[in-house]
Amino acid sequence: MEQYEGKSIFNGIAIGKIWFYEKSEHQVKRVRVDDPEAEIKRYEKSKEIAISQLNQLYEKAVTDVGEANATIFEVHAMMLEDADYNDSVYNIIQTENVNAEYAVATTGDNFSVMFAQMEDEYFKARSADVKDISERVIAALAGADTNSAAMDEPVIVVAEDLAPSETVQMDKSKLLGFVTRLGSSNSHTAILARTMNIPALIGVDIDSSWNGKMAIIDGRKGLIFVEPDEVTLAAYKAEQKKDEDARELLKSLKGLPDETLDGKHIKLYANIGSVADVANVLANDATGIGLFRSEFLYLEKTDYPTEEEQFIAYKTVAQNMAGKKVVIRTMDIGADKQVDYFNMDKEENPAMGYRAIRICLDREDIFKTQLRALYRASAFGNIAIMFPMIISVDEVNRIKKICDDIKSELSGNSIAYGDVELGVMIETPAAVMISDELAKEVDFFSIGTNDLTQYTLAIDRQNAKLDNIYDSHHPAVLKMIEMVVDNGHREGIWVGICGELGADTSLTETFIKMGVDELSVSPSYILPIRKIIRNIKSI
Ligand code: PEP
Ligand code: MG
Repeated sequence: MEQYEGKSIFNGIAIGKIWFYEKSEHQVKRVRVDDPEAEIKRYEKSKEIAISQLNQLYEKAVTDVGEANATIFEVHAMMLEDADYNDSVYNIIQTENVNAEYAVATTGDNFSVMFAQMEDEYFKARSADVKDISERVIAALAGADTNSAAMDEPVIVVAEDLAPSETVQMDKSKLLGFVTRLGSSNSHTAILARTMNIPALIGVDIDSSWNGKMAIIDGRKGLIFVEPDEVTLAAYKAEQKKDEDARELLKSLKGLPDETLDGKHIKLYANIGSVADVANVLANDATGIGLFRSEFLYLEKTDYPTEEEQFIAYKTVAQNMAGKKVVIRTMDIGADKQVDYFNMDKEENPAMGYRAIRICLDREDIFKTQLRALYRASAFGNIAIMFPMIISVDEVNRIKKICDDIKSELSGNSIAYGDVELGVMIETPAAVMISDELAKEVDFFSIGTNDLTQYTLAIDRQNAKLDNIYDSHHPAVLKMIEMVVDNGHREGIWVGICGELGADTSLTETFIKMGVDELSVSPSYILPIRKIIRNIKSI
């Protein structure tokens, strides 16, 4: 057994085989496709293969173990014909323009979580079945497509580094954890790991010879054990079971209000990066989505997402959230989220460069396409829009004018849209200092502590060398948050935190006492934070 240290970016234990990911091999399971219809045909074909296998299994089982025991295969075949299951697969292929394998795996995961949460024992038991049938279809798909050989079982991904675009393309259902040599704990790859609930370490002295070996990630202590001995393995399996039990206990908090002991209600929302994350939001009982990082729709593609593609994605999220608030941030491309087809010049300081709202106000065609999609989708749910990297009132006025133009255009074409709250992200010191003026112009503030820390402390959040002094607890950052809350409340608007600091349970009480109205966090933090909120006072 070998043991290595690293920096943990998400707690938890992962046990499984290592898959050494090398960039030169295009072995990602989540593949972007240009022809979703062709993927649907592949799915249909593989589904038929799976159903015929199941029928054969049924016949064999009737002979071998009797009809009563064989019915499971009949049930599996029927599940594959289920309209909801099939609609979900089609929907994911069409809205995300992805390969059938990914759509089936995601659907399998989502349905399995949904079944697992049902009261009825019969439906609970269907959780494993739905995974089973999904795996069968994926195996059939692999038979037809040799490209999909990688990550065909759940693995711990070990890599030199992972870009957000690579992480987002990995098949989440097969990702047990990841370990990299490079990367910082405030990067978007790290944020994705937290959103996906995946134990992850950075700064580890990795080695390609680990490929295929068994390993354990201990996200609490920041350790990875390669080829663990029996005793260590047994101890960590027991720890893992304890974690599961603790999560089970937290489930008793589902359905309970996010209310302090003295009756202050907090909006406890979730952060997402894709339509597929909504299942996790619902499974963790968040009361809304406080940050949908829409740029991931752009990162997954090889060309600008069309208005229709975006509309379907936003509408799907809004509908799945069934009237609960969905705050969608307009695209925050730039800095570490680079997209080739934007053809951006190389910059000396991309974090302080041409990014986010700066691109949108410069290239209005891109901005208007996104806004039209957002307003159209707002007719199908409770959508709010927020704008990143704001530094001036002038920017906000320009944005509002463009939004008014879009609404007039839609009304002129008799296209419906809903009541949409408009908010700004407070993630630059400039926005903090003029938050009194900004508050007069918008419906809410959402504090992006990741960038606010970076710009306040003048520390590049991507720089692993500075990870130890990138301190979101710095008094300058905390004072800024307080100032923004006060300025927001003076104008009667709500103020939330959607940066990673919002999930820091050591500060939950401080934030509530400051008057923060909303916390938007990775889905897995919802219930632990609910537990705290329900046990503290707001003053
Ligand atoms: C932030 O900066 O805190 C934030 C939420 O936005 P992002 O992490 O996507 O830059
Ligand atoms: Mg930000």
